[in-house]
Amino acid sequence: AKERGKNRYAFYQPQLTEQAEYRFRVEQNLREAVEKQQLSLVYQPQVELFSGNIIGVEALCRWHHPQLGEVLPTEFIATAERIGMMKPLTEWVLKAACNQAVAWKRAGLPPIRMAVNISPAQFLDKYFVSLIQYVLEETGMVPTELKLEVTESVVQTDQQNLSIFRELKDLGVLLAIDDFGKGYSSFASLKHLTVDCLKIDKYFIDDMLVDRKSQTLIAAMIDMGHNLDHEIIAEGVETVEQYQMLQQFGCETAQGYLLSKPVSPDSISKILKLNRLT
Ligand code: C2E
Ligand code: CA
Ligand code: CA
Ligand code: CA
Repeated sequence: AKERGKNRYAFYQPQLTEQAEYRFRVEQNLREAVEKQQLSLVYQPQVELFSGNIIGVEALCRWHHPQLGEVLPTEFIATAERIGMMKPLTEWVLKAACNQAVAWKRAGLPPIRMAVNISPAQFLDKYFVSLIQYVLEETGMVPTELKLEVTESVVQTDQQNLSIFRELKDLGVLLAIDDFGKGYSSFASLKHLTVDCLKIDKYFIDDMLVDRKSQTLIAAMIDMGHNLDHEIIAEGVETVEQYQMLQQFGCETAQGYLLSKPVSPDSISKILKLNRLT
């Protein structure tokens, strides 16, 4: 048995090395991804449940490297955090998303909200508010059409965080709590912060048709959110049955593969022109 264990270890080692090597190459190449214009954004529609209208899109970052191919966002975002590349990456994403939104408006498409993911460390960075201000000015983006998606982990009740939320509100941008319900501080966040929107995590949506607990929790989050004047978005909606149940629960917005996967800017502008998903 010992012999076999040894062999198995010897067998797995090259794989581990390969993974470490892959990570190393991701790290090395990510540093120049922005300058080399290897990043792009795809957009996933957010749909109003009762009308079927697209009222917004979420910008999701993609990285295509000539040798590495498509690197998963979860992989390169984590790497960017680790090697201190999140600041330039966030700035690139914000500018690209706002430029796109402004271009769509100039082309006569109906106004929609542009949602951008912001990592906690960036959100809490002391330059973040001035970055937003700068991007709004530089791109001509209407503040009320920009929505920042932040996870609950930014929500602590210390003064620093509260003032960031307040300053962003003063600029007029919208704020959404992403992956709502999965973190620890949901209730504290709702008590202290002025957020516009709660985004119910896919974790609850996934088994809502078969798990009564998920159903109960979703219904409770929707009711509570509405009583606090928050809009509710459900993420990861994949089936008609989920869509209908969310509609019954009074959820106003949904996002997920049922409606559309994240798609290229060209595909989105075609979809927006019709304001209909095909
Ligand atoms: P997230 O913000 O929770 O985004 C939702 C993820 O779920 C996206 O994965 C989206 O493509 C995927 N998704 C949407 N609808 C469905 C569905 O119906 N079924 C399934 N199975 N998946 C669905 P993606 O694009 O791979 O992004 C993963 C995560 O990477 C995001 O999670 C976000 O945390 C992060 N991320 C992506 N782009 C950015 C960015 O520009 N900045 C930052 N800070 N994070 C980003
Ligand atoms: Ca998000
Ligand atoms: Ca999520
Ligand atoms: Ca997330």
